Amino acid sequence: MELTPRQLQIIDIVKENEPITSEEIAEKLNISRAALRPDLSILTMAGILEARPRVGYFYAGKHTKNLIAEKIREIKVNDIKSVPVVVREDASVYDAIVTLFVEDVGTLFVVHDDGSLAGVISRKDLLKIAIGNADIRQIPVSVIMTRMPNLITCTPEESAYDAARKIVVHQVDALPVVKTEEINGKIKYKVIGRITKTIITKLFVELGTI
Ligand code: ADP
Repeated sequence: MELTPRQLQIIDIVKENEPITSEEIAEKLNISRAALRPDLSILTMAGILEARPRVGYFYAGKHTKNLIAEKIREIKVNDIKSVPVVVREDASVYDAIVTLFVEDVGTLFVVHDDGSLAGVISRKDLLKIAIGNADIRQIPVSVIMTRMPNLITCTPEESAYDAARKIVVHQVDALPVVKTEEINGKIKYKVIGRITKTIITKLFVELGTI
């Protein structure tokens, strides 16, 4: 929809002065309320302005954006996480590749004997070693994984927004969801879930479904 210069001017006035009544807008434009009416109905019907009885006009675009921002911050990692797929440090690269297929995931989390997080292995980590001459049945995943403390993790209390932002900023496909525990005076990260690009995409579709 092509807006007229006056409609654009009205939007600017509302953005700066919201809430603002039609009388006040007419006054600023030096026109009568009757002359303003058609433009106001077009802008409200197009969803650009929002009219609230006895309050005035609001710029609706901004509010819609705020609503989405609020919503995705309200949703917690705990509400959307799925079960983690883990392998032990001494599992072979071959076993890890099989697990990837069997569990139908793209990222594996590697855990110590006590179940705490040791590392992450991606599809490409596995491809890289598999296309070399290495004997992938002999090499343990601990040799190729990205390890602690270089892991990007999230907690169940964090928002879906924060987790999605980490995925984008650090350019990874998945985050382990961890709970901090103290075992023998050492801080350990217990893996309790995973957040992936697929989960975020599903959430996006869910939020977009009318
Ligand atoms: P791919 O390597 O298949 O493109 P990713 O983009 O997820 O998948 O992984 C890129 C690199 O980052 C890999 O070397 C992987 O080990 C590492 N990585 C993956 N996820 C994480 C994470 N949550 N924290 C730190 N490093 C990660």
